[in-house]
Order: sequence, then structure tokens, then C-alpha cells
Amino acid sequence: MAEQTLIGQKLIGLIGGMSWESSAQYYRLINEGVRDRLGGTASARILMWSFDFAEIEALQHAGDWDALAGQMVDAAKALRKGGADFLVLCTNTMHRCAWAVDAAVKTPLLHIADPTAAAIQAAGLTRVGLLGTAFTMEQDFYRGRLEDKFGLEVLVPDAQDRKAVHDIIYRELVTGQVLDASRQVYREVIERLVARGAQGIILGCTEIMLLIGQEDSPVPVFDTTTLHAMAAVDRALGR
Ligand code: GLU
Repeated sequence: MAEQTLIGQKLIGLIGGMSWESSAQYYRLINEGVRDRLGGTASARILMWSFDFAEIEALQHAGDWDALAGQMVDAAKALRKGGADFLVLCTNTMHRCAWAVDAAVKTPLLHIADPTAAAIQAAGLTRVGLLGTAFTMEQDFYRGRLEDKFGLEVLVPDAQDRKAVHDIIYRELVTGQVLDASRQVYREVIERLVARGAQGIILGCTEIMLLIGQEDSPVPVFDTTTLHAMAAVDRALGR
């Protein structure tokens, strides 16, 4: 598939629905980004695969990452068949299966950790706190990439705070509930990370930006949803 189309924009393949609450943000941010760059009535060229998150979440909590990898690969193949020039997996957690997509599908996957790390480096920071699902905070696929590929030092909350952060994502944010009490919990978790030396905070779950923003943190926040979406715009416009 030709990367550059006749009308100048690459076709973005979004693997979404994890949850749709954040995929809707990707859709909005990417379209706004293209409009801002090209002006007028310009909008993004997008294909989206959207999962039933109930099925995905059940497999995650059962620890069936093989089945999940199969699902991500099936989605990637469908988008490739539809003509997608590159793929955007709209969740940090499911990047645990990025290797499987890379191995099975030639269409390039724009890894969410890469624009995030680039923004942290551009800000001149080296030690960052990571908020996300327990899978993202505790397993190596995400932290490992930030540490090994980009030389960042990654701090995660303690066990009790990790559970609070994880539960708020799965019980509230993916079902569209944005609660003040939970915002306060996140603020306190951020404060404890900053007290341990975090110079910045990665919003390493694509729904967290629905709950908190820069105003909730004394140090810079790095919103993976926005950074990933803007990287997709750059790539779609060939920049
Ligand atoms: N969207 C979230 C993330 O970025 C969590 C939901 C999921 O497990 O995919 O990690």
C-alpha cells in the first residue's frame, strides 16, 4: 500500500474501543490536528476498528495475553486490508501485544511510548512518574521501553496507590464516570511521586486525561492520548 495517497494524507488505522471513551478523544484530537495544520474543511483520513471492551477487559484480567495478541493482530490485519498506511493502538496497556502486531503485520505501528518519551526528553526531564493500569505500571513492556530505549528513570506508585489508580480506570473512566473524589486521589498519588523525585508525570492510560490535566500536578504532565494522536497527525501529513 502506497504510504502517500493522491490527496496527500496517509490513511490512519486506529485500533480502538479500549475503551471507546478514549478512542473518541483520539478521533477528535486527530481531526482537530489535521484541521489546524491544513485549515478550511480538512479532516483526517481514518479507518477505525473498535473492540467490545468487555471482552478485552475479561481477557486482560484473566491474564490471557495470547488471546489478546491474537485479537490485536486480527484487527491490524483488517485495517491493513482496508488500506491503512500505519496503525495506532489507542491504549497503553495493549502495547503489551505490540510485538505480536509488529511480527504479524507489515503495516507499521506507531508505538505510544515513543512520542511520549520524545516529549519528556524535549522537556529536558530524566525521571518521571508513571500512572496507568496495573499491567502498564507493573509489567516491563512499557517501563522497559522508556528505560532501555530512551534512558528514562521511571517511578511507579506504591502498591496501594497502584491499586487505587487501576481501580479508578476500570470502575469509572472506561465507563464514562469522571468523579471529583477520584481526581483528588490521583492528585495525592502524583504528590507522592513528586516527593520521591518525579520531575514529570506520564498519564500512561488513555482515559486519564478525562480526569486530570496539567492543573492537577505541580510538575509537567505528559498525556499519552494527546501525544500519540499528534504523532499520528505528523505521520499522516508526512512530517
Ligand atoms: N486505555 C487504557 C490504557 O491506555 C486502559 C484500557 C485498556 O486496558 O486498554 O492503558
